[in-house]
Amino acid sequence: MTPNPTNDLLNNKLRAIIEVAEVLTAQLDLPQLLQSVIEKITDLLEPAEFGVILLWDPQAQVFQPQAVWGPALADRAAVLAMRLEPGESVTGRVFAENKARLLETETAVAAEKSSLRPANLLALTHAYGRDILPRSLIAAPITAGQEKYGVLVLETLRGPLTFAPGDVPFVQALADLIGLEIDRMRLDAAAAASREAHEANRLRTEILATLSHEMRTPLAAIKGYATALLLEEVTWSPDKSREFLQLIEAECDNLEGMITQVLDSSLIDVGQLEIEPQPVRLPRIAQEIMEEMQRQSRKHRFVINFPAQFPIVDADPQRMKQVIRNILDNAIKYSPDGGLVVISGKVRAEDVVVSVADQGVGISPEDLIPLFDKYFRVKAPTGYHVPGTGLGLPVSRAIVEAHGGRIWADSTVGEGTTLNFSIPLREWGGT
Ligand code: ADP
Repeated sequence: MTPNPTNDLLNNKLRAIIEVAEVLTAQLDLPQLLQSVIEKITDLLEPAEFGVILLWDPQAQVFQPQAVWGPALADRAAVLAMRLEPGESVTGRVFAENKARLLETETAVAAEKSSLRPANLLALTHAYGRDILPRSLIAAPITAGQEKYGVLVLETLRGPLTFAPGDVPFVQALADLIGLEIDRMRLDAAAAASREAHEANRLRTEILATLSHEMRTPLAAIKGYATALLLEEVTWSPDKSREFLQLIEAECDNLEGMITQVLDSSLIDVGQLEIEPQPVRLPRIAQEIMEEMQRQSRKHRFVINFPAQFPIVDADPQRMKQVIRNILDNAIKYSPDGGLVVISGKVRAEDVVVSVADQGVGISPEDLIPLFDKYFRVKAPTGYHVPGTGLGLPVSRAIVEAHGGRIWADSTVGEGTTLNFSIPLREWGGT
């Protein structure tokens, strides 16, 4: 069989399209994908010595080169730094007219490039390596349906071959392939964003439901005791009335604590948690909070142990109280059988460390990892519920970190937990 040059040409082009399509289906991100494609096209299409894919940026209203290739190019970065305005050079025109163009001669190229702004002309001259103009050029719009994405430009710089009219449909087919792939990626990204938004919404709803549930528990108790006290047909003894009122007070404190945590957590989210540092005696604060807690729990025994010469630190006293209260509150909540709670202080070279050790349920190593994440709560065994928001530790962490310190936990399931936090020592922080 005699070889048929037309068939060979067609076969070559078909093979090229298949090869480009293969590159496009590789699992790469868009910039990498475009770079691989432009390298492949410039390699496969013989007259092409320089190729560039420019995408239209609707926000900045410019064309931006995304991928550039040309083995003979002196400066690829110069091309990537170019920004073309609407209507500028052959790119602007092809995009506006949405139609591929072939410039077969140096004169035609020169005429078209005369609308390049000086900075871009300089960048191209740099890239070409000397003051030469391409000998021929094809530019094809990159589109998909109604979407216009950019322009594919291929140029002949020095070689003997130039582009011919027969190359135009082929280059347009390549540009269409690129357009379809960009379209698919954008649709995927939009679908992923919508899935993410949906998931964030679901999480928010779940969090709100949990928070409302947690807040309803003390509220129901308050309502119950208040209703009981108001019953006209019952006369409560003064002791009973007082007990109910104390329970109401305790539940109000619980509720207030939860609301404060939710508010603080929102302040942390918007970066507005305020810290007003002043000289603070941590042992004194720890003692005060410990006495407060002692009144709340008869099951637990509290011990405080700070070295006599404990340095004064630079900290916000109200926030320090909040952190110690959160940690001590947890030590009680998560040691339902009571036990010893030890609050101790340690002085190190650069900072001081306050630790609270309990003999409670403990935390497993996998639960220690997300312990300080917002809303994280260890799953309690069924039938055993400890009220809480899952915000105490993340808020404590934000406060400690705002002071330049660190917070961490050591724990053994069934034996107990030690929560530690450090506060850095400043120069003036003597004893
Ligand atoms: P809350 O106590 O409101 O749930 P926290 O942020 O204070 O929220 O604590 C998060 C979770 O960490 C708790 O739900 C609990 O599972 C676990 N946790 C915290 N402190 C202790 C502790 N001392 N012992 C055991 N588990 C603890």
